[in-house]
Amino acid sequence: MIQLTLKDIRLHARPRNKEEAIRAAGQVLVEAGNIAPGYIESMLGREQQANTYLGNGIAIPHGMPKDRELIHRTGVSVVQVPDGVEWNPGQTVRLVVGIAARSDEHLGILTALTDVLDDPGKAERLAKTSNPGDVIAGLTREGDGKSATPAEELAGASHVDVKVACSAGLHARPATFLVDVATRFESEIRVQYGTKIGNAKALASLLKLGVESGGTIRVLASGPDAPAALIALKQAVESGLGEEEETEALPAKISAWAPQSSVRAITGVAASPGLAIGHLFQFKANKIVVKDAPRDPDTEKSAFNQALATARDQLGAVYDDVQTRAGKNEAAIFRAHQALLSDSDLCGEVFSLIGDGHSAAWSWQRAIEERVADLRQMQSERLAGRAVDFHDVGQRVLRLLAGAEDGAFHLPEEPVILVADDLTPSDTARLDPRRILGLCTALGGPTSHTAIIARSLAIPAVVGAGAVILEQSDGTTSILDGTTGRLYVEPDAADLESARKFQTELQQQRDEEFETRYQPAILTDGHRVEIVANIGKASEAAAAVEAGAEGVGLMRTEFLFLERTKPPTEDEQFEAYSTMTRALNRLPLIIRTLDIGGDKVVPYLSLPKEDNPFLGVRGIRLCLRRPELFIPQLRAIYRASTTGPVKIMFPMIATLEELREAKAVAEQVRKELQVAPVEIGIMVEVPSTAVMAGDFAQEVDFFSIGTNDLTQYVLAIDRMHPALAKQADSLHPAVLRMIDLTVRAAEAAGKWVGVCGGAAGDPRGAVILTGLGVRELSMSLPSIAAVKAHLRGISFAKAKIFARQALACKTAGEVHALSLPAGTTEKPR
Ligand code: PEP
Ligand code: MG
Repeated sequence: MIQLTLKDIRLHARPRNKEEAIRAAGQVLVEAGNIAPGYIESMLGREQQANTYLGNGIAIPHGMPKDRELIHRTGVSVVQVPDGVEWNPGQTVRLVVGIAARSDEHLGILTALTDVLDDPGKAERLAKTSNPGDVIAGLTREGDGKSATPAEELAGASHVDVKVACSAGLHARPATFLVDVATRFESEIRVQYGTKIGNAKALASLLKLGVESGGTIRVLASGPDAPAALIALKQAVESGLGEEEETEALPAKISAWAPQSSVRAITGVAASPGLAIGHLFQFKANKIVVKDAPRDPDTEKSAFNQALATARDQLGAVYDDVQTRAGKNEAAIFRAHQALLSDSDLCGEVFSLIGDGHSAAWSWQRAIEERVADLRQMQSERLAGRAVDFHDVGQRVLRLLAGAEDGAFHLPEEPVILVADDLTPSDTARLDPRRILGLCTALGGPTSHTAIIARSLAIPAVVGAGAVILEQSDGTTSILDGTTGRLYVEPDAADLESARKFQTELQQQRDEEFETRYQPAILTDGHRVEIVANIGKASEAAAAVEAGAEGVGLMRTEFLFLERTKPPTEDEQFEAYSTMTRALNRLPLIIRTLDIGGDKVVPYLSLPKEDNPFLGVRGIRLCLRRPELFIPQLRAIYRASTTGPVKIMFPMIATLEELREAKAVAEQVRKELQVAPVEIGIMVEVPSTAVMAGDFAQEVDFFSIGTNDLTQYVLAIDRMHPALAKQADSLHPAVLRMIDLTVRAAEAAGKWVGVCGGAAGDPRGAVILTGLGVRELSMSLPSIAAVKAHLRGISFAKAKIFARQALACKTAGEVHALSLPAGTTEKPR
């Protein structure tokens, strides 16, 4: 127990600002021989991380635990500022209590301080007095805590006992952490220490308990969520109440690049990750001028037919090229372009215009331009976005009719950062990644074809950066950051050098991660997280294993239904699923039943048009209405379950009735096939399911949280919306709290939870989800090696603390601003 003496007190100080006030409190500690002068910097540094304002005009600045060796002995200083000093906007401090704590000897003073906190009159007297003895007396009286029996305090409460591991006892910072956790629950919660009882939701009340390091507290809770509250609080106290994070958190290994200077930044939407450094080059598509100089109608018609046939061939060649370079999904748009060339309405209109005496080129241009104009008027951003496809096909055929050279744009020899208003899919596909360092478009959203193709070609890209980018001159040196969605124009030499260094380090890191991709994600304290893959077709199962996946956490079966003219048969599906089980060689495979609807449209299913397709007949709602799709799929899955460890997962479950009906259909199918039961789980993507997770957990074997959809439904943001999608952030605290709710409910029922939405493949998301208790993270193949490596670098204890901090945040921005535990690396958002 330390005693305040006259040398620890300074009265009538007049610091001009908070920094001076902290320095004054530090100086008193230095002069009293308690600390080395360097600890004052640590006190200032601590202030950057946390607010030390306690209330009632009192602040308790203190240093960071990592600098504890600068403390010679535990000491407290008091600087009285009668006129007050602004601590934070709206917070004025008149008693600055500097703390340098090697252990917990200062708790008596903290306890006494809480008396002052409870008593504004006393705080006022201490802030005005000219007698240092008053301050000493006011702050050295033992806090007496409130004695009461639990029975008096909280009738019918349940409780847990837990040891406080914090090295300095339950001082202000860990107590604040505990309050943060407690206030998330509705129940009344008390903390008992010896004979004293404090309110877990009131900081002053907790501090008064004077809990010392190693002391055991009893947490009592009474109310509707008491069991969950006790689990969370026990976990929080055992995890060190935020202490470990402070002592061990280091800057992330490699985070996003940031310039040091105030270089001009143009902000758009992050579309494809990575950093490109080079000169800008403005891409301007050659406009084809068409004159209406008709020859005889037959000649025009045959010229038109010839142009269509050549365009079809060209598109076939582009399809093959893009498929080889970027994959089938990315190439699919060129099949759609081919289909436009066969549009009978469009071609019929052109023939009729030619018949009226116009040239083929003029007629085609007019028919296309009408459609482009109509589409641009559409309310739906997605349909409006399709105007670019019509325009693209239109230009291709016009070029042929006008005899213009295809692809007539020339890139400089030296690779460049390409700037464009917007790029058509054909433009993007023609790009040679060896000559394009990065892409920046004025228009477009994160789901535009430019973005998708750039990602699969690994070209860093920023889209939707606005017309300002079109004003930049060719040759301007720039840094394009596709991870943060920024274009830095004319950076200085130092920024260029640091960006180049960042590029090299990032590549080295990616290589190292890839080398270790088969090592499991075992955290430093032995906790294991399963890292599995999201796939969409049979051949990807083998690729998933090659990428380091420990199984498949999400097989999106709808991809088997796309790009066809009729649904795959039961046998075709069985073939696909059993190809996967073979490739996985006894690794688990979770097959999600058909999730059509929303953005996933299958023309041959003739689904009625809906105004709000994301809120309409999609996922399980569709399957329950279309047994001719659902039953063959379930039959194929059950048959495949005899070839390997298969689990069934239902998408978009919003009600228990849907789940029960789907399970009943599945059970019927299983009985008919006379095969063994398999585990049945559901996607948690709808808030109703997260909120009622406790009820759902009684009727399923597992949950897999689809953060993509959960985010769009929690935040009411269309996940495809080009303007809003940026805000559809799966790390928003509202989404995280839904996930927390789900995990806690599942744990209480003894069920496991996975996450298969985008948040699982993001290192920050992966750490938070792990800390929340998610057992399996399922992600696209390129993320697997990196996430495994990140998780191997941290402890479960740290992940839990980080997750609690994230839950306590108020905005997505705050979650992203939290400093990641050591060993983790940021990935593009
Ligand atoms: C999700 O919603 O997070 C999910 C994984 O499903 P999908 O992206 O296929 O809708
Ligand atoms: Mg989904």
